[in-house]
Amino acid sequence: MPDSLIPQLMTRLQGRVITPVDRDYQIARLVYNNLVDKRPAATVRVSGVDDVVGAVRIAQEFGVDLAIRGGGHSASGFGTCDGGIVIDFADYDRVRVNPVTARARAEGGARWAGFNHATHAFGMATTGGLDGAEGIAGPTLSGGIGYLARKYGLSCDNLLSAEVVIADGTVHTASAIENEDLFWALRGGGGNFGVVTSFEYRLHPVDMVHAGVIFYSIDDSRTVAEFYREHLASAPKEFSAFLGFHLCPAASYLPSERHGEPMCVVAGIWIGDPAEGEARWQPYLDVAPVVGAMVQRMP
Ligand SMILES: Cc1cc2nc3c(=O)[nH]c(=O)nc-3n(C[C@H](O)[C@H](O)[C@H](O)COP(=O)(O)OP(=O)(O)OC[C@H]3O[C@@H](n4cnc5c(N)ncnc54)[C@H](O)[C@@H]3O)c2cc1C
Repeated sequence: MPDSLIPQLMTRLQGRVITPVDRDYQIARLVYNNLVDKRPAATVRVSGVDDVVGAVRIAQEFGVDLAIRGGGHSASGFGTCDGGIVIDFADYDRVRVNPVTARARAEGGARWAGFNHATHAFGMATTGGLDGAEGIAGPTLSGGIGYLARKYGLSCDNLLSAEVVIADGTVHTASAIENEDLFWALRGGGGNFGVVTSFEYRLHPVDMVHAGVIFYSIDDSRTVAEFYREHLASAPKEFSAFLGFHLCPAASYLPSERHGEPMCVVAGIWIGDPAEGEARWQPYLDVAPVVGAMVQRMP
């Protein structure tokens, strides 16, 4: 690594530059997947578009690798690198909602929990990941599967525009009418076409929903899975659910003697008429003996 790389970053950027001499370097270099063990020369906590432009240009000038980190949930650890610069959006995560146009603009580091919190205040939502700690960036750029996808499409289908810093350090808007080819690539191409500093989404009227999770014995997996497959194929688009396998968590609605046991799980949502919520869920409570369930009205 060239000696002047860190001084250049510190002089030219406003956000914090975390290097191996900093006490929190060991935390700053971690991503969600703890098997990924990389040591960047610097993690830059960008404070705005200027910092992103600066970091991209400095990486070019010094010929070092550049990684971009939104929520850090990439299983392969693409949000970090060895010996290069990490653009970390953790401090750049505000969400602005325009209820009149039903649109929200979110900075590159927003996570779904914060995004949902902001839009729920206006009784609106868009399709986001199941885990609130996930970044909005990674899922949107690679597709984005969530509870609202059956009715409203993937996260990338709801992307209306993006502000992007491309490899030469210039800033562009990508949308259906501006830089259309870049916009096309951003909706599924992953984090390969530039650094997205903000995302603009279409919102939908989704407010209180009837949602939750049901745990079944692992021995009933086949019955539950076959029912799930048939039911979802013809269920109204307002109902959506995911089937999976989980260790039984230590939740109060699950019997303590079964905590830690592998189980079959259905998690889902009804966003239609609230009066129909219980009836829409009932088939999943009847299909096999339920170990524990938490299905209720919630934001
Ligand atoms: C526990 C868990 C639950 C998950 N649940 C879902 C789910 O419900 N639905 C779903 O669709 N996926 C899900 N995923 C997959 C997840 O959405 C992807 O791994 C996604 O890429 C993570 O995005 P991130 O921003 O959190 O991660 P990061 O690791 O920060 O980024 C992922 C990729 O996007 C790039 N990137 C990040 N920010 C930007 C930016 N601002 N501009 C350009 N490129 C950027 C990164 O360089 C990297 O290549 C889940 C993953 C985990 C670990």
